[in-house]
Amino acid sequence: MNTLRSEQLSKRLYWAMSIVIFCLLLICIPLIVNSSQKFTQSYRTYYQLEALRDLADLANKISRERGPANMLMISSADEFKQKQEMLLEYRAKVDDQLEHTAQQLKESGFNELSQQIYTVLKPSLEYGRQQVDAYVALPYDERNAAQLDTSILAMFQVWDNSRRLLKSLVIESDVSSSKIAHFVSQILLLADLRDQAGRVVSNITAPVTFGETIPEQNRNRSLQTQYRVRYLWDLIDTVQPKEDKTPEFIKLHQDIKKYFIDQGIPLAASLIEDSLQHRPYHLTAMQISEMIGDHFAKVVDMQSYLLQYSHDVAQKEMRSNLKYLIGTIVISLISLMTAISSMVFARRHIFLPLIHARKILFDLSSSAKTDSSALQSLSKDNSDSLFAGIKKLQQMLQQRDALEFRLKNIAHSDPLTGLSNRFALDEYIRFLEQSPSQFSQTCLMIIDIDHFKQVNDQYGHIVGDEIIQLVAQCLKSNVRTSDLLVRYGGDEFLVLIENIELENALQIAEKICREIEAASIQNKAGERIQVSVSIGVAVGASSWVNLFTQADKALFGAKAKGRNAVAEA
Ligand code: GH3
Ligand code: MG
Repeated sequence: MNTLRSEQLSKRLYWAMSIVIFCLLLICIPLIVNSSQKFTQSYRTYYQLEALRDLADLANKISRERGPANMLMISSADEFKQKQEMLLEYRAKVDDQLEHTAQQLKESGFNELSQQIYTVLKPSLEYGRQQVDAYVALPYDERNAAQLDTSILAMFQVWDNSRRLLKSLVIESDVSSSKIAHFVSQILLLADLRDQAGRVVSNITAPVTFGETIPEQNRNRSLQTQYRVRYLWDLIDTVQPKEDKTPEFIKLHQDIKKYFIDQGIPLAASLIEDSLQHRPYHLTAMQISEMIGDHFAKVVDMQSYLLQYSHDVAQKEMRSNLKYLIGTIVISLISLMTAISSMVFARRHIFLPLIHARKILFDLSSSAKTDSSALQSLSKDNSDSLFAGIKKLQQMLQQRDALEFRLKNIAHSDPLTGLSNRFALDEYIRFLEQSPSQFSQTCLMIIDIDHFKQVNDQYGHIVGDEIIQLVAQCLKSNVRTSDLLVRYGGDEFLVLIENIELENALQIAEKICREIEAASIQNKAGERIQVSVSIGVAVGASSWVNLFTQADKALFGAKAKGRNAVAEA
């Protein structure tokens, strides 16, 4: 039964432990899930940004291919070979970048965009190149500005397609909703700026090459492009948040203004002015292409800087999210381990000992008397409580105390008179002997019934017993309950009174003497029977033996006086 209850307690303990662990899991799991989502998000953003970086690089390279392509198309026969080699070399670089970007997009999960590199971008690039190649295949005297312009425009088309891919990538990715969203806008704006900047010259290259007046259409395109360049430059500064306007950003932004807008664009504007004034062009198309090429570098520098900066920001965010995730997992594990180990500790060092103690208590209480209905009902009502065990044992001990008290009383009292017997006297003496000075203030009276033998002989032992009871009653009524009354022997009694003067003691003895003398009992025959007592009184002695000896002597004196008398030591 007890084993069963202990199992129930253990079960409850396990339940409590499971609930605590469950509650901890309720707190930890959402925290871990949330931080792992954050980390996964930043991890994805980081790799998507890498893909964007690659695609932006490709777009730039495609835009820049117009440089060597245009130079080949406008080159003289002497320069042709050199410019052709330059272009082929550059085309190889663009092709490498194209393959690399397609691969990168695929790895970052942009499969469709990776496909579009081959299905959209590559064919348009090949078409543009074919246009360039077709133009340069023409003999010099068969070439004209319109053909040249068509070839240049064909290359514009390639960039437009790469721009579209860039836009699709931004839309499909999560970067636009992350912390680095504004960097993405900047990268798109800079890609635009880089291309528009290239177009400033490309738009007028054909008529300048052939020394023709710049057609209104080309002039408008060039002016529009110049306007866009300034607009984009301004927008880049506006979009960049204040906290990300690092000194390097500010410097690069100013450099674009200084080298590209203030020095590069006016070159194209001055050629348009020459055309409007019908003056011969003061620069050849080749010269202006070469001159303006250096100024583009600033735009590309800015784009590279922002790509690197956003890469660093994304990497930082990814690392801090990873740290947060690891921290959350570690803290969760520590909390769980602490909870489990404290519960295991509590179970082993607190609950199991308590369960064991309870079992011992129940064993102890059930090994005791079990027929008490109160105990049985108690154990039924509170069957699984440790306190029930304690209460049960407590009641058992109380009962045992009561029994012990009764037994002690029985052992220490005289059955005939109810007075203390010699066992009780011995115990009392042992108590007084612990501090012997007590005897100096203690009074001892020895009371002996006179000629008691005769009473027995004359009226019988039953009457003799009644006389003994009468004397005992008289003694009880003359002393306090704190005084000790002893039936010492057959017809002998002792009275022990502490802290009393001899005079008072003698008065009490005298009173007892007189009361007994006056008292009587009646036997069946209706005769009145009277007795007297002799009392020896002693107060103060060095020991019990001395006190007793003195009182005994005094009793002897009282008897000698003729009985029914009190004598002092
Ligand atoms: P004295 O005056 O010298 O004391 O004479 P006494 O007769 O009292 O002498 P003694 O002390 O020798 O006698 C005591 C008697 O008490 C002897 C015994 O038979 C009787 N006795 C002892 N115990 C009891 C008892 O419990 N009941 C009765 N009825 N008699 C007892
Ligand atoms: Mg006697």
